[in-house]
Order: sequence, then C-alpha cells, then structure tokens
Amino acid sequence: KPWEHPERHKPVVRLRGIVKRFGLFEAVSGVDLDVYRGEIFSLLGGSGCGKTTLLRMLAGLETPSEGRVEIDGEDVTELAPYDRPVNMMFQSYALFPHMNVASNVAFGLKRDGVRGTELEDRVADALAQLELTDFATRKPDQLSGGQRQRVALARAIVKRPKILLLDEPLGALDKRLRESAQYRLMKLADDTGITMIVVTHDQEEAMVLSTRAAVMDKGLIRQVGTPEALYERPGSRFVAAFLGNISLFEGVVTAIRDGIAELAVEGMDNPLFASAGDVSEGMPGAVAVRPEKVRIALEGMAPPRLVNRLQGTVEGLAYLGDVTSYRVRTRQGHLVEVTRANSENAADRDVDWDDRVEIWFEPAHAMLLGTD
Ligand code: ATP
Repeated sequence: KPWEHPERHKPVVRLRGIVKRFGLFEAVSGVDLDVYRGEIFSLLGGSGCGKTTLLRMLAGLETPSEGRVEIDGEDVTELAPYDRPVNMMFQSYALFPHMNVASNVAFGLKRDGVRGTELEDRVADALAQLELTDFATRKPDQLSGGQRQRVALARAIVKRPKILLLDEPLGALDKRLRESAQYRLMKLADDTGITMIVVTHDQEEAMVLSTRAAVMDKGLIRQVGTPEALYERPGSRFVAAFLGNISLFEGVVTAIRDGIAELAVEGMDNPLFASAGDVSEGMPGAVAVRPEKVRIALEGMAPPRLVNRLQGTVEGLAYLGDVTSYRVRTRQGHLVEVTRANSENAADRDVDWDDRVEIWFEPAHAMLLGTD
C-alpha cells in the first residue's frame, strides 16, 4: 500500500501551507497533505470546516491565498481548471438535461477534439463500466437518481483524469442505493487506477470508501490516517467523537507504565487504565472507550476481574438487529454506551431495562485522550 510507504512513492497530490481567506474569514488555515496514486482519499468533516473549499482549490475553481498545490510533481497553483489533469463530479451531477446519456458522456471528449471511432469506443467503454449501456439514448429526466449518479461518474472518468474530485458523491442517493454506489466507486477506482478525493460529512461513508481520510475542523486537518487508525487510535477528542460513539471518564493521569496509563477519576475507588496517549503524568485527561469494547453482565454474573470494572443501571436499551445497544448509568454518574452482538446464546440477552449491571473493558481497548 503506497500510503504506508510514503518514502518510496511520490504523492500524486501534494498540498503545502494552503490557506484560503474570503475577506477576513479564513476558511482553510494552513493545510499540508499528500495523497498517493490509486487512493480513495476522503476529506471528512462537519458543515463549514473547509473541505469543499479545499477540493475546489484542487480543481482550480478557487485560488489559494497562500501555499502551493502540486499534482504529479507539477506546481498547478495558478493553472486554470481545464489545464489540470483533474475532473470534478459535483453533488448536483450537473448533467445537460437536453442531451441523452451518451451525449452527456461524450461532451467533454468532443470539446477536446476526440472524434470518430475513438470517441465512440471511449463513450461505450465508460457506459459499460457504469452499467449504462442500455440507457445510452435516454435523457437525464428519464433516469432514476442512482442512474443519474452513474452518468455523472461515467462523464467524469471518460476523459481518464489522473485525479477525480467528488463532492458528496453519494449525497443525493437513498441509503440502500448508497451502499451499492460505494462499492461501485471502489471497484471503479480499482479498475481505472484513478486517484479519487472525496468530500463527505458522513463518517460511515468515509470509513467504507477510503484508503485514508483527513478529519477536518475549522479549516484545519486534525488527523490523517486509515479508517482503522482514526477509529482505533484517534489523537484527540474531536476525532474520537467524530468517528463514532465514545464514552469518556474524566480524571487526572497518575502513572504511565509499559504503555498503559492510570487515571484517577473522582468518586471512584479504583483507577481506570487505558493505552497511553499524548498526555503526561499529572495532567488532566480522559479514558475513552468505544461501545463495542465494553462488556456487560447482570450484577454478580461478571467474571472476576481486577481493572476497569464499574457498576451501574441500564437506563436505555435499543434492539438494532445485529447488536443491542445499552445506556448504562454508573454509580458515579457516568453515562456509558455498550453494544453487544445479538448471538444465538440466550445468556447474552439477559440484560433488560433498569437492571443492575456490571460493565468492564480491557485497558488495551480504551484510549487516553488529552483535554483538547
Ligand atoms: P459543507 O459541508 O456545509 O459544504 P464545507 O466543509 O464544505 O461545508 P466550505 O464550503 O469549504 O465548507 O466552507 C468553509 C467556510 O468558508 C464556510 O464558513 C463558508 O461559509 C465559507 N465560504 C466558502 N466559500 C465562500 C465564499 N465564496 N465567500 C465567503 N465565504 C465562503
């Protein structure tokens, strides 16, 4: 995987010191980023964090106030959109309503002077790749939302750009269609070798699609990593909370030994333990744990354990098909989310509303986070 060996592979996109100001407002505040060939890289963040602005600077639709954009080793900061080896697919798809599917897909190639059998072959290839061959003569308004999205994709790849920029590519699709579209996009990246950079606010989508993602907040990249690294080893509360549910126990770090931190929590007789993070002894911090890492049993039924064991009451319960989600209020007043797989084992389904329970988690399955 090239992104795991950055020293051996040149990035296809390289951003250095990118700042974008609109008047006095700074939408992007100093971004450095490398994206490697063949990646599906997500820019992930909430509304207004600057992800679309960053994508538009890659496309050439905005010029950075400061910094340099390199594509394939070439400085393209000042290049116009059509001079960049880049194509962008807009959330609205921007299809021409009066043209049929084949003409929509052919449009960009024709403008570049491609004619005759080459034009026909390339359009036919793109249509086949997106399973649109049977729809070639339809107009956009005779297509479903999912089919329109595929036309927009076919149009974006037919020019064989090095980089495809996708702004919320699946945003207009319903949940069921999104799933098949996600896999289609992954297959397309694999088949064509086109590097894809995707803007999304949907962490689940970023997790499914991405080789790596950058989590953005207020114009800054907070963390870059594989979905797994971002989820399992977030460097901050912001990233931890953005990527899924997490329960926090606030306290003070009293010791760090062999990569495990010990946290004193007010009202608890015993300390909590977690994988040490970027917090030193004597500093405030929080032990953070994901719902699926917390185990639960009726009081008295938990195996004998030494650490990270809490007593509480079930305050909420939701059956979600594959798992059941519990909200447990601990004696000290913490609210802890617990999910448990709904196995065939009846003993795993014995916990109910208002039950007194014990919950526990492995130190290695929890993380220590600082105060930011
Ligand atoms: P969303 O998911 O809501 O689209 P985003 O992360 O894509 O959010 P951007 O569109 O990049 O956010 O906008 C970042 C910030 O810059 C926002 O506060 C926005 O209002 C501001 N902004 C974007 N374009 C302009 C502009 N042309 N003039 C002034 N402010 C702008």
